Amino acid sequence: MPLAVNLRHLEAHNIRMEGKLPARELDIDTLDTVIQLAQPLEYDLEVQKLEDGLLVHGRLLLNLDCQCVRCLKPFQYRLEIDGWACHLPLQGEDCVVPVNDCVDLTPYVREDILLEFPRHPLCDPECRGLPVASVGKPRNSSNIGKTGTDKSAWVELNKLKL
Ligand SMILES: [Zn+2]
Repeated sequence: MPLAVNLRHLEAHNIRMEGKLPARELDIDTLDTVIQLAQPLEYDLEVQKLEDGLLVHGRLLLNLDCQCVRCLKPFQYRLEIDGWACHLPLQGEDCVVPVNDCVDLTPYVREDILLEFPRHPLCDPECRGLPVASVGKPRNSSNIGKTGTDKSAWVELNKLKL
């Protein structure tokens, strides 16, 4: 549990947590070939003890190795959550259960990071997709086909007039 808070240490003062969490510790299965997790998660958090729980707030940063869904170019997506906040109740129904006085923050971080994943990663919002040369040919031939049908439609109209 590298991203864990020791509740005993919290009794005296707030805890500042700063560091990197290896991607495998996050244990995110993207189930998606266009997004890969290779870089560690960088975190800079402060944990505060409240009467009935813990308040965690700070910054999360994760660089994702993505592939553009339009042009297939690999690029890095910077997933940054500035001002991340999470309240962990220590009492009640959905309370967190400390193990040896420690609370693992990883599941909460994982959950919110997943929500920020790009749905359709693009190398650039203006990405025009694959170069025209590779998709141009089929488009041209379909245009010719359309012109052909237009002509035959006129032919049919002329027949009707006669
Ligand atoms: Zn692209």
